[in-house]
Amino acid sequence: MTQQPRLGHNNPPGPNPSDTLAGIETTPDFTRFRQRNDVFTRAFWDDRVRSKHTDAFFASYRVDARPRKGEGFQPKDFALRNASWLISDIVSNRGGDSGRREGFQAPIQADTPVASQKVEIDDPARMAVEIKRIARFFGADLCGITDYDERWIYATQVDTRDFSEAPVELPEGMTSVIVLGHQMDLPLVQTYPSALAGAATGREYSHEAAIVMQLAAYIRNLGYQAVGSMNDTGLVIPYAIKAGLGEYARNQLVITPEFGPRLRFSKIFTNMPLAHDVPRPLGVKAVCDICTRCADACPVKALPFGPPSDAVANQSAITGVVKWTSDAEKCFSFWAKQGSDCAICLRVCPFNRDFGTWRNRLWLKLALSPLRRLALWLDDRSGRAKRLKPRDWWAG
Ligand code: SF4
Ligand code: SF4
Repeated sequence: MTQQPRLGHNNPPGPNPSDTLAGIETTPDFTRFRQRNDVFTRAFWDDRVRSKHTDAFFASYRVDARPRKGEGFQPKDFALRNASWLISDIVSNRGGDSGRREGFQAPIQADTPVASQKVEIDDPARMAVEIKRIARFFGADLCGITDYDERWIYATQVDTRDFSEAPVELPEGMTSVIVLGHQMDLPLVQTYPSALAGAATGREYSHEAAIVMQLAAYIRNLGYQAVGSMNDTGLVIPYAIKAGLGEYARNQLVITPEFGPRLRFSKIFTNMPLAHDVPRPLGVKAVCDICTRCADACPVKALPFGPPSDAVANQSAITGVVKWTSDAEKCFSFWAKQGSDCAICLRVCPFNRDFGTWRNRLWLKLALSPLRRLALWLDDRSGRAKRLKPRDWWAG
């Protein structure tokens, strides 16, 4: 695939018919996000974020994790977490010293060329159904398709050799974004905060790396451009919402009717003719309006308590979007100090349940109805949000 680097530029917020349905509201201050400002990238170049804790945090994902006092932070916990990340690490490190950390600071490089003969697609709706089927075949738990909306593409990406800004690498003419959801393991998530729980995150990064690479290869084999992407290149949350996969919540996550907030998302940019999904407002916002369980449980109070606003705590948040926005510096400082990722705000969320059971499906109906206060009351009394002790997870 010929990559045509181009510098992103800021688009003024224009009318976008699906924004209202998606609950996306921009202001005149809207500015596309520069990846250099994401808090994980700042931990390499910005002394306001970088510390001995952040250096030790990243080092611990290799082999020199230092077990510390407390259940869930012992050698086996770190070993499982790091092994879970392995496939993702192999993909992101394969660029060596080229400055492209694939899946995080650069899109995933195409391993196969675009076929010289295009397969004719005369029914984009049918092709969209087929792509979703193939996504499931490769292991995705959810798949939705939306339009290529440049507002959510990073203004610039990062060259990891010196953390300078670099042009975003995407071919011209992208028309669709295929968004894939990857379910995190429920019992592991119940052990947050712990290094053990980080295995739930790492396993899905490894899954998503493989799945986007395979699905993108399938599309290229049919003669169309396809760029696999994880955290790189653009913000996945607005695409996931616009693709109808779920609704944005106070804990900064997309809540889905299938898995609640317990998902990771990846994406593929393509020019294949595909019908687009529409946003699906579920009624999650009405629940978050009367619930602050995630913000209450956050150990560093990094989540907002009030209504959505365009206020940002620091440069690690996009400007000009009215939404619930965390203080990423506070959040990441907690991750760094505990030596592993945190998702307490996911664990305690009342939507974090197994919707494979009829009881939980019934609860979901209640939560998304005017009886939402009753649903929250029932959740509080159920003990569902309680942390699972890592020793109990290991005991099976
Ligand atoms: S991940 Fe942890 S520290 Fe960050 S906002 Fe959620 S609860 Fe707070
Ligand atoms: S814990 Fe409550 S406020 Fe937070 S995301 Fe879940 S439902 Fe919304």
